[in-house]
Amino acid sequence: MTKELIAGFEQFKKRQYESDGGIMLRLIAEGQKPDYMIISCIDSRTNPGTIFQAPPGTFFGHKAMGAIVRPYQQGTALSATLQFAIRYNDVRKIIILGHTGCGAIRALIENMQDDEISSFIKLARTSLDKARQSCANPDDIQELQRKTEEEIVLQSAKNLETYPAVRAALDAGTMTIMPWLFCMEEGALYGYQDSSGAFEKITGADDAAPFATGCCHA
Ligand SMILES: [Zn+2]
Repeated sequence: MTKELIAGFEQFKKRQYESDGGIMLRLIAEGQKPDYMIISCIDSRTNPGTIFQAPPGTFFGHKAMGAIVRPYQQGTALSATLQFAIRYNDVRKIIILGHTGCGAIRALIENMQDDEISSFIKLARTSLDKARQSCANPDDIQELQRKTEEEIVLQSAKNLETYPAVRAALDAGTMTIMPWLFCMEEGALYGYQDSSGAFEKITGADDAAPFATGCCHA
């Protein structure tokens, strides 16, 4: 397994140091200035660097099970990361990237009995309750899972607003929060659209801005 990782590293080195103008060397000399912060799930299939084919210097990253953002608490990994990204590096676009087939959300639905895991994912219980209410058939596990995945992305976007650095940038009118969902099965990206109140497919022709929300969604 490590052999695959080392081979990948060699490719990365060739591409980013030795061709394309040596982007890494430029970023080292000039410093980084990422436009985005992406909060994503720990899932090994949904790594944003992979699915967005993002070159170095594109985004700050933070990962958590289910891409769940808890309400603000001082001293957490996420609060420090947001402070660093927003206050000291002028990041003004945050993507919350949930995904379908999420194991964390399945664990929430199935009420997994593991104190370490359940004590974190229970933060999203209100999203599960909300999803149950909006399902045509709450006994349909697939429908419930998809709705819950969407609700958790929205709840996380809402919770993000409680972080001081995010709040300050929102109040200044300079922050955009984008609640997105990667559908693994379709190979499609969905963004929450404030105007329709639903997740809609994002295509290459779209500017990401319409799939963003500053505040005030449900
Ligand atoms: Zn996941």
